[in-house]
Amino acid sequence: MAASLIELKNVFKQYGNGTVAIRDMSLTVEKGQFVSFLGPSGCGKSTALRMIAGLASVSAGTITVNGHAPGESNSAADIGFVFQEPTLMPWATVFENVYLPLRLTGISHAEARPRIEEALLQVGLSRFAQSYPRELSGGMKMRASIARAIVTRPRLLLMDEPFAALDEMTRFKLNNDVLRLWQEQGLTIIFVTHSVYESVYMSNRVVVMAARPGRVVADLPIEGSYPRAEDFRATEAYAESCQAASKALRGTLDHVDIDH
Ligand code: ADP
Repeated sequence: MAASLIELKNVFKQYGNGTVAIRDMSLTVEKGQFVSFLGPSGCGKSTALRMIAGLASVSAGTITVNGHAPGESNSAADIGFVFQEPTLMPWATVFENVYLPLRLTGISHAEARPRIEEALLQVGLSRFAQSYPRELSGGMKMRASIARAIVTRPRLLLMDEPFAALDEMTRFKLNNDVLRLWQEQGLTIIFVTHSVYESVYMSNRVVVMAARPGRVVADLPIEGSYPRAEDFRATEAYAESCQAASKALRGTLDHVDIDH
């Protein structure tokens, strides 16, 4: 029996300016799942992710991560967050950037070193530990950002449209690298994207969301065993899942058209 890691129960989020970013979202994520939040811009994907991370408050309803409210002391270190922008400190080397979350928890440089080296190895950046962010390509900056997120050895990795700004070849490569990390480390991942193809390629479950107000409109299981590689894109399971996700997504856009 799979154990649940994340529970959202009737979650609402209203920002100070009155925008209802999330309306009545309930969701259970099992340990080890790879879940995508798929939806058009403004449907609350980022807000949902930030609430799960404890980076944004909940207006009503409850969220638990491993039985604790997000942001409670012993769940915070268990969550890695990868932002849309790599958000690296430009004045610090890759090594020092990846050290940051460990430094913040008081771990010494000497103690952190093997963990930083391991994280850099996992994202293929070992040779660039002493480089500065300005010396790296967009894909490499994102790798550094992923290394920084996994250096605390989280069980849960939350990724907010991490590859939206990358060219397609780099994105495909990073997709495969994240899948490998997910499998090797036994992670649970929630991956925010507005790409049907990316969500289906990566996930075993796609949660489709609609905007105004942000809400879940479909929860689709994705067939297809792992490890997945480029040949998965040529399978019937992939094509059928893309069609189902596109259809659910089109429904969300029709709704916007009717509204306006
Ligand atoms: P997505 O990630 O799907 O693009 P967001 O979660 O960023 O959606 O935003 C959902 C809705 O909440 C949008 O209408 C957005 O304008 C609004 N929103 C997001 N952040 C804030 C904020 N800090 N203050 C007010 N409104 C916000």
